[in-house]
Amino acid sequence: MNDCLFCKIIAGEIPSKKVYEDELCYAFYDIAPLAPTHFLVVPKAHLASAAEVTEESAAVVGHIYAVIAKLAKELGFSDGYRVVTNVGAIAGQTVHHLHFHVLAGKELGSFN
Ligand code: 5GP
Ligand code: ZN
Repeated sequence: MNDCLFCKIIAGEIPSKKVYEDELCYAFYDIAPLAPTHFLVVPKAHLASAAEVTEESAAVVGHIYAVIAKLAKELGFSDGYRVVTNVGAIAGQTVHHLHFHVLAGKELGSFN
């Protein structure tokens, strides 16, 4: 998508600190981390949010969760972590390209 920040990051037009990449997804550290480990995983194909996931595009979401599980083992936080995706401005979504926050490395507390 032309004017999308994360599409530009995926394309390398805006620099990012890469965690992982394959043909379907790209993972990079969040610029404003909320935990000792905080990175984002995005599908390379633009979707505005999880609200746009369809049966046709759903496989990439499962793939991203499998990638996160692998990275958790490799990066040493498989004992516990949080995966969050905000949908819409009312939920705090500021970048309208589907992304999964991965947070780890501290006591994350209850979610309410
Ligand atoms: P949201 O609020 O949409 O759920 O999450 C967007 C996230 O993207 C925020 O945590 C924010 O810090 C991060 N972010 C925004 N702009 C950039 C950027 O240019 N580079 C990186 N690495 N992260 C960004
Ligand atoms: Zn995009």
